[in-house]
Amino acid sequence: MVGKDEFVQCIKDEILEKLSLRNRYNFLNINLMSILKPKYMNFLREAQNFYVKFEKRNNITHTEDFYQWIPEIGEQGLITRVNPFVDAGLNLQPNGMVAEFMRVLATDFFDPQLAMGMGATVLAVNPLVLHHENIDIRLQALKELITGEKIGCICITEPERGSDAVHMLTTADEQEDGSYILNGEKIYQTNGTKADWAVIYAVTEKNNGNTMGQFLVDTSWAGWQAERVNIPWTPRMHVGKETFTNLRVPKEYVLGGPGKGREHLFEGLNLERLGIVILNIAEAWNALSHAVIYCNMREQFDQAILKYQGVGFPLGDQWAKTMNLTLAALHICQIVDEKLEQHNGTLPKQLNLALGANASQLKSQSAKLSERVCYECANLMGGAGACDNTLMHDLLGISRIQEMGGGTRQIQQYIMSLALRKIFKMI
Ligand SMILES: Cc1cc2nc3c(=O)[nH]c(=O)nc-3n(C[C@H](O)[C@H](O)[C@H](O)COP(=O)(O)OP(=O)(O)OC[C@H]3O[C@@H](n4cnc5c(N)ncnc54)[C@H](O)[C@@H]3O)c2cc1C
Repeated sequence: MVGKDEFVQCIKDEILEKLSLRNRYNFLNINLMSILKPKYMNFLREAQNFYVKFEKRNNITHTEDFYQWIPEIGEQGLITRVNPFVDAGLNLQPNGMVAEFMRVLATDFFDPQLAMGMGATVLAVNPLVLHHENIDIRLQALKELITGEKIGCICITEPERGSDAVHMLTTADEQEDGSYILNGEKIYQTNGTKADWAVIYAVTEKNNGNTMGQFLVDTSWAGWQAERVNIPWTPRMHVGKETFTNLRVPKEYVLGGPGKGREHLFEGLNLERLGIVILNIAEAWNALSHAVIYCNMREQFDQAILKYQGVGFPLGDQWAKTMNLTLAALHICQIVDEKLEQHNGTLPKQLNLALGANASQLKSQSAKLSERVCYECANLMGGAGACDNTLMHDLLGISRIQEMGGGTRQIQQYIMSLALRKIFKMI
């Protein structure tokens, strides 16, 4: 059973058994088998088999510190599938955004907070893929993050600069030997207090985004301090507030010098947002898998509650919305994969620019979808959706923060309104 031993079980054995990870995966697979290519369906099943066995072998109740599981998950090649990572000496197959979608679906059904935490490591991986320049230490960091030996985080947001991320206050002062000294504060970094490697953005002139640089930092260095921020909706995920005090970054760790940081920040944003889209959709499917099984088994007034229009119809609506957005996201993932293949693993600048509006459209709608579907599913399950016997309470918490991270709802709306203006001028 999910949840702590000290609390009483609310859902009867028969239904809880039916809500097993294996059965919830089966629900998902039945929905996807006719729309996925066999290589992705097979990969999804492989990842699911790993998690089913992993959960059973370790008697996992999803109350544990999930960071301890990451090395074993990394050994399976399940930290990220965005790339084959040939440069890091690996050759993960299948790879690309569709494969990443499958990886996240399997991981989220197993443990939603783990899936979100691992997502922040992926955000540290992406800049290293683009900017390792075959420098040994960068390749080493890349490999350690992909294989789950080490944990990553990405430091953009500051206590006084959230949505206005470009006007940073954290400074990077260049030294004669080409190293930089960082001073400042960051906040809300997913994995902040657990991370071994951090990718930090800082400016040589406060408030001037044109002077931004991008730095790889080993968090064991002097001058890095991380304290834990408590986010009660995701209590097992470590989120940090970091203080940099004369944190020295040697030359070979500078991924982008002053002037390049801003471009590096924006080049990865589309893939980051698509990653969040995938996570949001996975949360919606996870909630649906619980509610569909539960509502087919729970009886009131001598009937399965699914048979009442008040339950079956809204559940059908949430299912339709989730499937529609899944199809849209899969389509964009396929386009990205085709382009990545044609252009040796990097997105052409023009496409990356055009993708900006699509990424914002999908990010804003999928965050809303996740919040609504998770809430409605929990609501349709009654008390069973609110107690800790299943992952529903986890999904309720996590789905409530998805509009905030990766650019808030208003920032996505702002990007879309700018795009509409641009399109109007093209007519
Ligand atoms: C769980 C979690 C994990 C996170 N992980 C990371 C991470 O790994 N790395 C990282 O660097 N950051 C991370 N963040 C930070 C996240 O990206 C920021 O919270 C987000 O960018 C918003 O910044 P803020 O919290 O300072 O809010 P603010 O920017 O202060 O915004 C407050 C409100 O004002 C609105 N607003 C602001 N400006 C405008 C405007 N121009 N027009 C209209 N409305 C506006 C916002 O939309 C929001 O509703 C995380 C946050 C959370 C909650």
